[in-house]
Amino acid sequence: MKILIVEDEPKTGDYLKQGLTEAGLMADLARDGWDGLHLAGSGDYDLVILDVMLPGLNGWQVLEGLRRAGRTMPVLFLTARDQVDDRVKGLELGADDYLVKPFAFAELLARVRTLLRRGRSALEPTVLQAADLELDLLRRRASRGGRRIDLTAKEFALLELLLRRQGEVLPRSLIASQVWDMNFDSDTNVVEVAVRRLRAKVDDGFEPKLIRTVRGMGYVLEAA
Ligand code: CA
Repeated sequence: MKILIVEDEPKTGDYLKQGLTEAGLMADLARDGWDGLHLAGSGDYDLVILDVMLPGLNGWQVLEGLRRAGRTMPVLFLTARDQVDDRVKGLELGADDYLVKPFAFAELLARVRTLLRRGRSALEPTVLQAADLELDLLRRRASRGGRRIDLTAKEFALLELLLRRQGEVLPRSLIASQVWDMNFDSDTNVVEVAVRRLRAKVDDGFEPKLIRTVRGMGYVLEAA
């Protein structure tokens, strides 16, 4: 099990790294937000311990960057603040747990072990994103550039599918089977109509356009 610690305070960082190593876990240490995001995005970590107040990017920005990049490893926040707002913010952004400083190492280790046991698969992101488009799976809400988008249940399911597989061209038949539970031959016009409506809601009045038709193949959602 490999853990990344992102902590700018040298004493705390070294102490955590040493403690985790002694507990039989592998631990790397990043000392600022950029470094942390880079390492967490490229290394194969099972858990990230993330300080909130960091030079460069703060802990929330690092977490946002990770989730946006599709990294779903559990994240344990270390926060010196004990305000409910901050905890809620961290948890909403997809943190899995938090500890308020100062904490006992034994408690940190217990939380780390719990998170590692839960594993990656159970920790799917709950907000899917592309550019400034966000789909909140828990609240069942979509927004773009901070503006709320009202979607029907089918449109929501369609957008969720496109976002989960962004960058991939999805054939109409696949969309029909996943979103409508239909066979290809039934009525793919339904898919075309739904995509057109969804695109009007998601892309009209916004840049960049996210949903594209790939002629003869299907549809793709991508931010590039
Ligand atoms: Ca700090």
